[in-house]
Amino acid sequence: MSLENKTAIVTGARRGIGKGIALALAKEGCNVVISDIDEKDCEAVAEEVRKLGSKALAVRCDVSKKEEVEKLFSKTVEEFDRLDILVNNAGIFPFVPFAQMKEEDWDKVMNVNLKSIFLCSREAAKILPEGGRIVNISSIASFVGFEGLVHYCASKGAINSMIRALALELALKKITVNAVAPGAIETPGANEVSTEESKKQTIAMIPLARMGQPEDIADAVVFLALEKASYITGQTIIVDGGWTLR
Ligand code: NAP
Repeated sequence: MSLENKTAIVTGARRGIGKGIALALAKEGCNVVISDIDEKDCEAVAEEVRKLGSKALAVRCDVSKKEEVEKLFSKTVEEFDRLDILVNNAGIFPFVPFAQMKEEDWDKVMNVNLKSIFLCSREAAKILPEGGRIVNISSIASFVGFEGLVHYCASKGAINSMIRALALELALKKITVNAVAPGAIETPGANEVSTEESKKQTIAMIPLARMGQPEDIADAVVFLALEKASYITGQTIIVDGGWTLR
């Protein structure tokens, strides 16, 4: 197991891609802090991590709130005495036609998807050791447009450029900062905004002809967390079954 004795925080980890990442890290022997705005299910995911033989801590945290983020990091250090990997996964994708988009809609998406990465990465930068890792979950919406998601596309595009600057600063400590940009992944959140018909239409646009699963994204995140990825930094890796190739 390649991440033994390491500790990771995964945000938005009670379900979907975050949960997949937490379990994949645990399979590599990593201790995992399961964090989400909703405490419901965090403890259940923590229990699954423990069954895999790793240690886990469930912590409620709204990643858009500075005080809650600071508590998340202090509780992590209290429990595990260290942090090696931060996975900024929490995100929201509420569809709103642009002309009807309220200022609150814009601010909420920016705060949850982008400001959160500033807040969490800043805490991580204070405590990550040499060789530490920050992995962000971006989206193919950072490269191509989606109707109804102007705020979301902007927030994800900003992640890709933000990490290039952060990767430069943290390179001094040999900390790498990367992102994974998922395509269409089957998660509870994605299911809430899709129908069987829209899924069929999506699959028709994907060269590998299937929806992605949380594990597809988790495997890329684990790779970026491993020692063998230590020379990759500032990059956004697309994992989309080839959707954006056309
Ligand atoms: P999901 O099933 O909705 O899971 C996301 C989790 O994040 C939920 O448990 C959600 O809690 C939590 N969350 C929301 N706001 C939060 C906040 N302020 N603080 C902490 N946690 C919060 O979504 P997902 O599909 O797994 O998406 C995970 C990430 O992948 C997101 O960044 C998303 O943009 C990205 N992504 C997903 C896809 C896809 O097709 N699924 C594609 C590209 C990128 P609540 O349920 O209580 O809101």
